[in-house]
This record gives sequence, structure tokens and C-alpha cells, in this order.
Amino acid sequence: MILYIFIGVSLVVLSVILAAIFFDQAVLVRQGTIYRVDTKQKKVALTFDDGPSPIWTPQILDELKKAQIKATFFMIGYHVQKYPDIARRVVAEGHAIANHGYAHSVILYYTPAEIEEEIKYTEHVIKEITGQTTKYYRPPKAWLRASLGEKIKSMNYDIILWALSSKDWVGFSARSMANYLSANINMGDILLFHDSGGIWHTEGGNRTQTVKCIPLLTKMLKDKGYQFVTVEELVNG
Ligand SMILES: [Zn+2]
Repeated sequence: MILYIFIGVSLVVLSVILAAIFFDQAVLVRQGTIYRVDTKQKKVALTFDDGPSPIWTPQILDELKKAQIKATFFMIGYHVQKYPDIARRVVAEGHAIANHGYAHSVILYYTPAEIEEEIKYTEHVIKEITGQTTKYYRPPKAWLRASLGEKIKSMNYDIILWALSSKDWVGFSARSMANYLSANINMGDILLFHDSGGIWHTEGGNRTQTVKCIPLLTKMLKDKGYQFVTVEELVNG
């Protein structure tokens, strides 16, 4: 009996893990969000979520500088307070900061008033520390319901998801992430990476392969004629 329960639980856990690896549930909530832009120009936007991190963000910034490209960082308000100098370095090097909420809470069951308060407070924190005003919001883990989406848009925010996810939290190698992204890229795509966090935590994690992926991917896409822009530059054409 205990063996059957063990097998049953293992199968459920395995299915959840496989679904997380092979299915991107963000595709289910794309309506009303921006996850790519219709364009005939070979432009794409790299985005990094969950930072800033004192370990990974500087390494990612170094790689972006070497590749001479600008990206968009969807920061967690709490991490901006904790690592203000890193957040300021992101801005000083010409990258864009966007709003990923204060504490990476899953907002699925928030009331519209709660989501407004969380976004506004995060906006305030980012403004105080970096001087930047945010106008793009990304819901943690892409959990969103339609009524919250309407509320967020009524605050003059665009909701940004992604066309392609690196799934860099799974543990793929830099080479396989770069190969996958390069093979599936389209003009106007927004790409998702993380500069902090892991499967169980929103901070830390191991972003070694993300760091290594940047020079590989940017070389592959530049060879195909792609340019890298911020989300704002992509959206505004
Ligand atoms: Zn996140």
C-alpha cells in the first residue's frame, strides 16, 4: 500500500517537473499583454528577472557591456532596497529597469487594490534609489487574472511577458539555451532570463549558465543580423 502511494506521489511530482520544463504556462495568459512586437526589423529584447543580485547582475552587466547591448531588468523592489548600488549600476550602464513587484508574490489571488499598492510601492522604491520611473510590469511567474490585468493597464502600465524563455532556472547548459533560442527566434521577440533566483528561492540561485549564454547567444543572433534593444525601444518601434 505504502509502495503504491509512493509511486503515485512520485509520478505526480515527476509530471509537474516535466510540465514546468517543457511547457511555458505564460502562453496561457498572453492575451492583453506584450510578449513580442510585430516588426519587420530584426530587433529583439533581452530581459532579466528577479534581480538585482550582488553576485550575478554584475557578471551579466560585464557580458552585456562586452557585447555592446542594452537589456531590460525586471527588478524586485525588495532586492533593489537590499542592493541599491547594483540597481544604480544597471542604470548607469544604460539599461532599463522595469517593475516585477515588491516581494515576488504570486498575485493570482490579489485584489485589484492590493496589486495597485504593490506596483506603486515598487515604483516608489525604484524611483527613490535609481531615479527611474517604471512603466512596464511583469507578473511573477506569469500568474495573472484578467481583472488584475485591466487594473494594471489602468495604471498606465504595459504588462510584459516573453515570446521565448531561456528556462535558465532548470539547469540547461549555456550552449543548449543559446542553440534553442537562436533556432526559435523571430523578429520582435522578447526573451526571458534571470539574474537572480532559483526554483525555490527568489534570490541567489546559480546563474553561471545565464552569464555564459549571453556571449554565445548574442554572437549567434548578431550573425543572423539581429539587433538588441530595450523593451521600450522595441515597443516604440
Ligand atoms: Zn520572477
